[in-house]
Amino acid sequence: MTQGNDTIDPVCGMKVDPHATELRSEYHGTLYYFCGSGCKQAFDADPERYLQTETGHQQHGHHH
Ligand SMILES: [Zn+2]
Repeated sequence: MTQGNDTIDPVCGMKVDPHATELRSEYHGTLYYFCGSGCKQAFDADPERYLQTETGHQQHGHHH
């Protein structure tokens, strides 16, 4: 089994069991789960900040 039910807290990177927490937020149609209320509040305050994934080279398409 490579797919568990765990998901990753986008704020701190901890594994979170979605069935074990009620701390979740929906953003752009995706549900995110949190290990604690502090992480949820941080995410709610600035979701974009935590959704910048490890894409090392983000190009913004401004090459002309
Ligand atoms: Zn957390």
